[in-house]
Amino acid sequence: MWVSYSQLKLFEQCPKAYKFRYIEKAPPKIKPVLVMANSVHAALKDFFLIPDVSARTKPALESLLRKAWGSNPDRKKAFATVQEEKEWGMKALAMLANFYQKQDIKAKPLAVEELYRAQFDSGIMLCGKVDRIDASADGALKIIDYKTGKAPRDGDTFLVHDYQLGMYGILVRKSMFAKIEKIMYIFLEDNIEISVTPSIEYLDRVLVKVLDMAKTVTKEKVYPPNPGSFCRICDYTAQCPGALKTSGQIFEPVEVPF
Ligand code: SF4
Repeated sequence: MWVSYSQLKLFEQCPKAYKFRYIEKAPPKIKPVLVMANSVHAALKDFFLIPDVSARTKPALESLLRKAWGSNPDRKKAFATVQEEKEWGMKALAMLANFYQKQDIKAKPLAVEELYRAQFDSGIMLCGKVDRIDASADGALKIIDYKTGKAPRDGDTFLVHDYQLGMYGILVRKSMFAKIEKIMYIFLEDNIEISVTPSIEYLDRVLVKVLDMAKTVTKEKVYPPNPGSFCRICDYTAQCPGALKTSGQIFEPVEVPF
């Protein structure tokens, strides 16, 4: 079984939600934020695949966003009104405008949205799709992950608990055997970069943590619910008895005068 960061994160938040998503294969809710995130990622992928950097104009980037958005199969179900879709679309355009203005749009990536997989001695198999990998003149790699959500207020504290960047570093190191200079998030809405310069000790520390988590996930049999604040944004509240029973005050229907 291949284990990705998204799997580990969801299991950490709630094993029951993990079971719905990855064992029972219940589809997640269709949400505006997902249409936006997927379209922005697709536009940036296609943008950096344009070989002639002089053709990487802002209108080209906007047009790639519209193309990705228009072909998103969930688009029709995600938005209640045209106005709502327009507002999300404008938000996506603003992110890309920010990106275009402040980031190096002439970069020539070694890879975009490439899937990396690796098997470890314990039999655990990790995988992850990396948004972009650039190489500097000396061949050292810069691994980039785009985020469409809000940037954390305190990047250093955020990185103490983060293992996604390290996981990508581990997977790329296994495949590419090159020095990794930097692993970073670009938070597109605020155009904030949060990065680590990964030492061998850092990557090894993350590897121990991630393998340990992956072992727990693969051995789990019960998948207990973990009701709490995550229930509010969970995709499976409607079919989760754990949420209904233990978080009744949040989900129990109440009478209203309209
Ligand atoms: S509704 Fe709550 S308890 Fe149920 S699966 Fe989702 S997060 Fe877990």
